[in-house]
Amino acid sequence: MTDPDPSKKVADRYLKREILGEGTYGVVYKAIDTHTGQTVAIKKIRLGKQKEGVNFTALREIKLLKELKDPNIIELIDAFPHKGNLHLVFEFMETDLEAVIRDRNIFLSPADTKSYLQMTLKGLAFCHKKWVLHRDMKPNNLLIGSHGQLKLADFGLARIFGSPDRRFTHQVFARWYRAPELLFGAKQYGSGVDVWAAACIFAELLLRRPFLQGSSDIDQLGKIFAAFGTPTPAQWPDMVYLPDYVEYQNVPAPPLRTLFPTASDDALDLLSKMFTYDPKARISVQQALEHRYFSSAPLPTDPEKLPRPAPKKESRTSDFDLQQGPTVLSPPRKSRRVMPGRDGFEGNSFQGVKDDDGNFGDFRQTVGDNTGKNQPVPMSVDFSIFGLKSPNRPTINSADRSHLKRKLDLEFQQPE
Ligand code: ADP
Repeated sequence: MTDPDPSKKVADRYLKREILGEGTYGVVYKAIDTHTGQTVAIKKIRLGKQKEGVNFTALREIKLLKELKDPNIIELIDAFPHKGNLHLVFEFMETDLEAVIRDRNIFLSPADTKSYLQMTLKGLAFCHKKWVLHRDMKPNNLLIGSHGQLKLADFGLARIFGSPDRRFTHQVFARWYRAPELLFGAKQYGSGVDVWAAACIFAELLLRRPFLQGSSDIDQLGKIFAAFGTPTPAQWPDMVYLPDYVEYQNVPAPPLRTLFPTASDDALDLLSKMFTYDPKARISVQQALEHRYFSSAPLPTDPEKLPRPAPKKESRTSDFDLQQGPTVLSPPRKSRRVMPGRDGFEGNSFQGVKDDDGNFGDFRQTVGDNTGKNQPVPMSVDFSIFGLKSPNRPTINSADRSHLKRKLDLEFQQPE
């Protein structure tokens, strides 16, 4: 490099504007790239005080994102260390899918839902083709650009999963989107965890609320089993060998149609294949994209024409009714039976009314009597507490850090 202080030069390039939000590892700013005039989002990741070191999650995110270039993946434009922080420069995205889903002024037609799901799966298919799991799929990690294009963001937890022996920490997903194998403590898992999460997002698009809102891991499994029936060993042979396996009382599956009254038959068929218990039998992302749901009428809406909320101005916090307390009893010991409850569905269901064009309008929330009856029950085994905290991050010492700084500068400033 000819420039003696490349980090300063790069930092001078971006004009910081307002804060967009606070993420897991630091603040996200809106900024203008003075070289191109382009609006960007800069994720400022604290490298920490001298003794804390650099967290490798950020580095992993950088490396992964550099390799993952796809229309449905957020683009990492630049990365540089500056004043003790690592700055990641992303293309600016106007909103995210969570904002779309919860905006009551937005009407999502079946074709709109299909389009959002298709873009989600296309981004995922690209990741999986590169042997990368996203592992943190949820609506607010699906960013939406000014032309309606949806892009997967926040690969902070993603990892290459090529090695069959590789073991992962299983407490990585936002609980509501967590696959049953993760909830049962699977140490080895594959792309099926992203498919399950995508199914939860699909369900959320259809219902306009998070589908399975468990208040603990035990409760989450109870909600899943209440929706799809308690899995039998024949359905999912490996289940009983999972580390945190707990026997649940058998409940039959209600017809899927009763949970998604407005969905088409094709949508229900795809949904049921994505929500398959046995990860080995679960549909892959590529197969899901080839499902007739996407080729049958109505065809997915052109992204440009998708309904979107007004561009966001500041950080938001979710206004979902987050915790109503557990609806199932957790066992004092893992060996005790757990009774799956159905309260979560009855208490929050939306009723869609079809209009003459076959569109669904007039979504009304029916509020059931679920207040007071299902008081939270103390948990003796609540694995979820681990999921709520940032994982322990490996750190490196200051000598390594300065080496890393140089490495990053070189890596991201030299034309490829
Ligand atoms: P977290 O780590 O909690 O998932 P992020 O660090 O990804 O959060 O994002 C924090 C905030 O910044 C969120 O409000 C998010 O919508 C916003 N944000 C993140 N990336 C972008 C982007 N590329 N364009 C616009 N806003 C963004």
